[in-house]
Amino acid sequence: MKAHASNNDMNQTLISVFAGIGFGAIAALVNYFLAFELYGSVTILLGQVFVFLALFTRGLPSALVSTAIASIAVYLYTDNMFFFVTLAAEIIVVWFLFRRRIPILLADLIYWLIFGMPLSYWYLPTVIDVPTTFLVLVLAKLLLNGLLYTALAILLYQLIPKTWRSVTMKPVADSLRGRVFYLSFLCIIVSSLSFSLLYTVRSAQQVEQQIVSDIGSKANSLRQVTEDFVNDYKVAVRNLRDSMQAVTRYDEHLALMRLTQENFPGFVSMLLADANGTILHGVPARHFQVLIDNPSAPPDINDRSYFSEPKATGLGYVSSAFRGRGFGTQPIIAISEPLIVDGTFRGIVEGSLDVPELVRLVRRTDIDPGYQSVVVTDDQDQVLFASDELHLRTLGHYEPNALTNLYTQNLPLTRINERDLLFTQRVNSYGWNIYVFSSPDLITQLFLNNLIILSIFLTLIAVLFAFVTHRFAQDLNRPLEQLAEQLRDNTDSPLSVSSEGMTREVRTIAENLTAARKLMVNFNRQLQQQVNEKTKDLEQLNMRLQKLAREDGLTELLNRRTFDDLAEQRYHEAMATREPIALILMDIDHFKRINDTMGHPAGDECIRCVGQLLKEHFERRGCLCARYGGEEFAVFVSAVDDVRKLVENFQDALATYCQVNGQVVPMTISMGIAEVRHSFGGGSFRRLVAEADKLLYQSKDTGRNRISIETI
Ligand code: GH3
Ligand code: MG
Ligand code: MG
Repeated sequence: MKAHASNNDMNQTLISVFAGIGFGAIAALVNYFLAFELYGSVTILLGQVFVFLALFTRGLPSALVSTAIASIAVYLYTDNMFFFVTLAAEIIVVWFLFRRRIPILLADLIYWLIFGMPLSYWYLPTVIDVPTTFLVLVLAKLLLNGLLYTALAILLYQLIPKTWRSVTMKPVADSLRGRVFYLSFLCIIVSSLSFSLLYTVRSAQQVEQQIVSDIGSKANSLRQVTEDFVNDYKVAVRNLRDSMQAVTRYDEHLALMRLTQENFPGFVSMLLADANGTILHGVPARHFQVLIDNPSAPPDINDRSYFSEPKATGLGYVSSAFRGRGFGTQPIIAISEPLIVDGTFRGIVEGSLDVPELVRLVRRTDIDPGYQSVVVTDDQDQVLFASDELHLRTLGHYEPNALTNLYTQNLPLTRINERDLLFTQRVNSYGWNIYVFSSPDLITQLFLNNLIILSIFLTLIAVLFAFVTHRFAQDLNRPLEQLAEQLRDNTDSPLSVSSEGMTREVRTIAENLTAARKLMVNFNRQLQQQVNEKTKDLEQLNMRLQKLAREDGLTELLNRRTFDDLAEQRYHEAMATREPIALILMDIDHFKRINDTMGHPAGDECIRCVGQLLKEHFERRGCLCARYGGEEFAVFVSAVDDVRKLVENFQDALATYCQVNGQVVPMTISMGIAEVRHSFGGGSFRRLVAEADKLLYQSKDTGRNRISIETI
């Protein structure tokens, strides 16, 4: 028997494990193929629905098997072992709370608030670089995700056949209202959470797209602006060079340069150098005069690339940014063109383009200072321009390092001075990098707003549903209560329900109940009638029985036993009140002969006649009369003055009273009368009877038809 039981347990365990594997496999497939990544770590794990189904239907071991399998898929998808821990912990905690009769949805909420969120808060920053504000959103999304698949699992659970379940799940609420509320609230949670998640994804994508196109177009325009800016100056230098080639005099050169600088104020200085890199002259002239006159620092630019490059290539050149030397140390960009006369390199013309001029230009582009910033670097990644809030030094090195991006997949993420920034990059034809940054706050804000809206929405829905289900339950309960109230009356009038509660179902119930009650009431009536009749019969029977017990059947006089009781009672009363009484015993004379000659029935008739006569003579006067034996009678006389007279009258009447078949049967009777008139309380009733009996025999012995009377 025991072996059989444990065998059965084994089978159940095996089924649970296999169920766990099955549910786990579905969960893994859903987790892997249907998971949609919602900004990095917030993966929607709808497969968990099936892990929960394993938990609800087959218990913890089965669910743990499922979790392990489902987590493999999540691991493959996210490359993160973390989910093995959180998902298993979730299942265990929910199971533990569920066993303590806490509703599952609440249990899951408790898990995420007390374990899941703190655990993730501690763990996630160790694997991904995520700012705290965004981390909070990630956690909130994890919580919503948890609630979504739990609610979905509870709803799906309702569809699973009972035979498949080895765990009994008790209904959360006892009342109809509670159950309706719970289920409909789950429906709302599922639909609103999925709607909200989908909506969030969509609108986040839109916002992202907006950011992409916005900063993209700004970067494009900046690329154009910077390029045009340099081109203009480049053309200016080229034109200057062409003009220079046409003239030879020093003052003419100087005048041309001065003119160019006037027209292009972005040039802080311009110079002309010979083929050896020696500065011949430049503008502003007083700076160059100082330079040229200084013997310790020969005005040589041989080492500068803006000299060597055009010399080597014979082409115009735009340098990277550098700090000027000799006059002014502001950052400049050198633009130079070679002077070539008759195919021979004769030197260069150079203009030093003031970088702050570029800064003024970039500042004019419409960049939203609230959440957008710009950095322009030259081909050496030296900062030419950076929005103030980035605190980047001009000519400092800047190259963005891309970070794991939790916010969006469409734009790279970088961090400058602890600020997370999405960015886009363009390169102009001078190798300059144009970076336009956008703060991810727009996306974060969107998540946050959605969360707030969702929370408010869920709260409102919960309140509304509590109210609606309350009304619904009332609609159902109130008519039932009314019906129950009316059912207490035992009438067959139709049951009615107030009009507002009268739905089709309630009307059907009321009609059926009315019919049932009619049937019951009729049945009760019939039953009552039958009971009444039977009771009446019984009462009559009882009375007859009582009469039979008291009376003699033939004469309807008292029988001997009743007579003895009643007469003794009267005797004692009379003794107490000192009232005269008499006891008469009578015996029909020679009755045997009547029987013998006329037959027994005639004898019976005679006995009845004697009884009748006794009633007329004695009972009418309040005496007790009894048939004392076969043809013997007894009379207890009270309140009679003359007993002898009474009995003599009786004897006389008897002589002709009895008739059988129309014939008078003459009869005589002998009597013994014991009378008490004087000595009250003298003896017992028994003695009185014995006395009367003695007197009766005396009457018989002395010839019959006699009265022997003795007064005590
Ligand atoms: P006596 O004068 O000495 O009393 O003579 P008796 O014949 O009346 O007395 P006995 O004691 O010899 O006989 C009584 C008879 O009464 C005998 C019995 O058959 C008859 N008897 C008693 N009870 C009934 C009855 O209920 N019906 C009829 N038909 N006869 C009865
Ligand atoms: Mg007798
Ligand atoms: Mg007799």
